[in-house]
Amino acid sequence: MKATATQQADLLSLANLDLQITRSKVAIKNLSAGTQFAELRQAQRDLAAKIIAARNALDTVDLELKRSEADLQLVEQRIAKDEQRLNSTNNSKDAQGIQSELESLARRKSDLEDIELEILDQQENARAVYATVSTDKNAVDDELGAAEARDEAELVKLRSGLDLLSNDRAQQASRLASDLLELYEKKASRGVAVARLVGRECGACRITLGATAFNELEALAQDDIATCPECQAILVR
Ligand SMILES: [Zn+2]
Repeated sequence: MKATATQQADLLSLANLDLQITRSKVAIKNLSAGTQFAELRQAQRDLAAKIIAARNALDTVDLELKRSEADLQLVEQRIAKDEQRLNSTNNSKDAQGIQSELESLARRKSDLEDIELEILDQQENARAVYATVSTDKNAVDDELGAAEARDEAELVKLRSGLDLLSNDRAQQASRLASDLLELYEKKASRGVAVARLVGRECGACRITLGATAFNELEALAQDDIATCPECQAILVR
């Protein structure tokens, strides 16, 4: 089969388009898979679980604080009542009993106040943990959102690029004689169909031709189709 210099250039140009199309399809496939976000999505899940735990811890502390405040209130009411009773009694024995109860209530009040301070401390810590985890979660959400938007824009660009390449490819293929196109498609189904011969190196398989093979290629007429003896690609000289 023969191919003029122009036809050989057209074949090479078709091969270049096919190479770009393949690369573009691979890039689209990789971006569409979304695996580039696996780490961020895992971090997002971990932080979501941590937020729930932090929220639960904070709720528990809030509840403990309410209970402790209620306990303290009861003791304070009891103290007020006892003081009233103490002021209104004339019986010294009763007064002694009330006095002793007031002392024990004062100890109880002091204990409860200590407990409340401790709980307030825990509440502050729990709030800080919740705030930190929330901030981290928001940061990961933002990062993931931005990365997804960036990749989505890149996908739109790649897809429209692929449309253009496919149109170019169709036009380029229609310019070729049908027997040449058939030969091209057959070779393309197995690998790189056409490549340039650079020095003695095949541009498709990168193997340097031996002296005999190279001399055979050199001896061919300019419009003869040269083939790489290693990978069977059409070699454009
Ligand atoms: Zn080759």
